Amino acid sequence: MIYLVEDEEGIRELVVYTLCSTGLDARGFSNGAEFWSALREEMPSLVLLDIMLPGEDGLEILRRLRLAPETARLPVMMLTARGTEYDKVRGLELGADDYLAKPPGMMELVARVRRLLRRAETDAEPEEYSVGGLFVSVPRRLVTVDGTEVHLTLKEFDLLAYMLKNAGIVMTRDRLLSVVWGYNYEGETRTVDTHILTLRGKLGRHGAVIQTVRGVGYKAVG
Ligand code: CA
Repeated sequence: MIYLVEDEEGIRELVVYTLCSTGLDARGFSNGAEFWSALREEMPSLVLLDIMLPGEDGLEILRRLRLAPETARLPVMMLTARGTEYDKVRGLELGADDYLAKPPGMMELVARVRRLLRRAETDAEPEEYSVGGLFVSVPRRLVTVDGTEVHLTLKEFDLLAYMLKNAGIVMTRDRLLSVVWGYNYEGETRTVDTHILTLRGKLGRHGAVIQTVRGVGYKAVG
């Protein structure tokens, strides 16, 4: 089952019709609220997301999908309007798997959808990290240090998981704020520092897994 969130009725109907006619099941929704309620009934195998939507926009929907363990690896393709490079980049930064410019060519859409579905089948290993005595399981939201469970707050966990997923990559405070707290979060980058500090404390001798990159931000070693 493929879910499409697109407020333009013409595009929505065309995409759903095209996918269904090639043997792929698809349902269209005109806004985030309808999409979330359908998601509770049935988990799709892929999501197509328009960016400009009434209410919650496509990037916000994407961010929420990536943060929830059960949808963190769900393949997502963004539909971007012509000339909105910024949205495309934001989408990829937030973890979109692919993007397609609107109006999408139907042959290309089907080919890309099939490619993403194939890729999802081949790399479906669980999102778990083991660094020295530190073990993190994203689907189970479990963290252990030398075999003992450590209790993290929601944001501490999301921060740690995101950093381990991108181990070796330097993350600016702004990027961490936008991914973990939401891109329209109005807080300060100091929030990130405070959380890193308590997170390191809870991880004990494995706190060094998160390194400070002076003048830039943080990176995880993994
Ligand atoms: Ca739109």
